[in-house]
Amino acid sequence: MSLGKLALLGGPKVIDRPLKRYNPIGHEEVGAATAVVESGVLSQFIGAWHPDFYGGPKVIEFERMCESYFGVQHAVTVNSWTSGLIASVGSIGIEPGDEVIVTPWTMCATVTAILHWNAIPVFADIDPVTYCIDPDSIEKCITPYTRAIVAVDIFGHSADMCRINEIAQRDGLRVISDSAQSPGALYKGEFAGTLGDVGGFSLNYHKHIHTGEGGIIVTNDSKIAERLRLIRNHAEAVVGPKGETNLTNMIGYNFRLGEIECAIGVEQLRKLASLVENRQQRAGQLVEELDPIFGLTLPTTAKDCTHAYYVFPMAVQTKELGVARSTLLSALAAEGVVGLAGGYQNVHRLPMFQKKIAYGSRGFPWTSDICKREVNYEKGICPVAEKLHDETFMGFAMCMHELSPEDVHLVANSFKKVWANMDELRRLEAS
Ligand SMILES: *Cc1c(COP(=O)(O)O)cnc(C)c1O
Repeated sequence: MSLGKLALLGGPKVIDRPLKRYNPIGHEEVGAATAVVESGVLSQFIGAWHPDFYGGPKVIEFERMCESYFGVQHAVTVNSWTSGLIASVGSIGIEPGDEVIVTPWTMCATVTAILHWNAIPVFADIDPVTYCIDPDSIEKCITPYTRAIVAVDIFGHSADMCRINEIAQRDGLRVISDSAQSPGALYKGEFAGTLGDVGGFSLNYHKHIHTGEGGIIVTNDSKIAERLRLIRNHAEAVVGPKGETNLTNMIGYNFRLGEIECAIGVEQLRKLASLVENRQQRAGQLVEELDPIFGLTLPTTAKDCTHAYYVFPMAVQTKELGVARSTLLSALAAEGVVGLAGGYQNVHRLPMFQKKIAYGSRGFPWTSDICKREVNYEKGICPVAEKLHDETFMGFAMCMHELSPEDVHLVANSFKKVWANMDELRRLEAS
């Protein structure tokens, strides 16, 4: 290939056209949504103990389809996966002040869902290869107050669920699986998201499949499933006539997903396998074209797993390269690569945790006597996640664009061109 002068320094761009926005919605979804609109029944939920307490025909159809697709006993749809996470934490019998171990390398809702029930998040570090919560670090975070673990299948790759479940069984903990970014990814032949006590997926617009907004919760425990359905639909208003006597964590919400979304969801789920396969092919091509590339770690898939590539995760060895991550990002962006970002999340470093204020102004729940010990959220508690965030991680959001093989080739060429001009970048940094 001809390398040429960096676009950052005035040379021609490798990618000089916009990439197509990712859009898995087609005429099947148009037809399904139109039929619902024409029926006039856009939602059929009733927030009282009634045959429609569990939703209308499309809600029921989509839930049964999710159950058979993911191979679980129960699927419960909700209006977002954030709602799904809140309902999940409520469904497993958490008490105020209980500790829940969670990864900081995730979207903030994974963690704030714990606070919604006045439980205390405790951050474990992540594995530097899979970027998922590290079981060894979980072990170090366990105290007499620990009640649950939230594992996130980040970027499209499952957490190490066998080891996490072993720890949980030994210590009597519950496991929640946040698989928002990994629908269709496999762990030892089973779908990511289905391997904890409760788990699920997001249906927001940049996830693999979507309904605009929405979420799917899955579980094989019928008691948990019933509690999820109660929390979804004003539990407190129906527990009396329904005859529900276990009232713990029964403040209900309206987390209901509508008929239009569920009709679209049915069509989207039919496409999931091929959408994931397509993503895997593009990611495979990118690895093949780039490998080996000095000072850049390409994504790895653990044995017995498949990767769904919500993000194509990489790490730059900035010391070996002698160039800062921000300089590489600027050079790649100038070549026309879109969807690249440095770092990801360090949720423990958000102001809420640094100031320890979730509710009101007096530091609740940490200053209240429900919190049984001083919990540390200082920088340094998750060195792997912090270093990746601050210095080395580089993510290519494969969820944003519909990449053709030619697009992937140009992305790879952009990396090669920038890497071939590393001396120029070192000079630029020195000047
Ligand atoms: C997208 C996402 C969520 C939130 O899902 P919404 O449907 O947008 O509420 C939670 N956790 C992770 C890891 C996510 O990627």
